[in-house]
Amino acid sequence: MSPRRIGRRLATLVAGAATVLGLGLANPAPAAAEVVTATVCYNTSQAGPYAGVADQAAGIWNAYTNNLNMSKCGSNLMIYYTTGGGSYAVRRSLGNGYVVIDTIQAQQYSVLRIMTHEIGHILGLPDNYNGQCYLLMSGGSAGTGCTNPYPYSTEAAQVDRNFGGFGAEGTQVFRDSWPALATIG
Ligand SMILES: [Zn+2]
Repeated sequence: MSPRRIGRRLATLVAGAATVLGLGLANPAPAAAEVVTATVCYNTSQAGPYAGVADQAAGIWNAYTNNLNMSKCGSNLMIYYTTGGGSYAVRRSLGNGYVVIDTIQAQQYSVLRIMTHEIGHILGLPDNYNGQCYLLMSGGSAGTGCTNPYPYSTEAAQVDRNFGGFGAEGTQVFRDSWPALATIG
């Protein structure tokens, strides 16, 4: 898959809104820097019981970033699930790849946190297994009690920088560590 498949659009929302609303600008400011929004099309047709969770996670990423728009418009990002072996993400390039949710881990950890974390890899974030729950990319190192599904400000800002610059990366596999429990409660 090619990063060219990431749709791009130029947002001129401020100027457009002023026109639509008929608000006269007596002394319009010079055109602001264009905001480039990258669209990552995700597909939940293979996500089974986790399709809704994927939608929630996409909504979180949209809410926490400025340069990214996740939408169900194609298959830049496929969501799969499996049983056993761990949740993971395969990023072929920025915004392109797939996420696999392990149904066993989904019973032990917040599945929304797993989903937003794994999608974070597709959006260009590395792991940061420092045990801190306020970080999304600390993943399973923060324990099963950590249900925070939101990127920290620094994590969201990194995604904005990634998509603002359309950083070039090759395929990377994030074989995640969400430590298993002795028993499933
Ligand atoms: Zn990870």
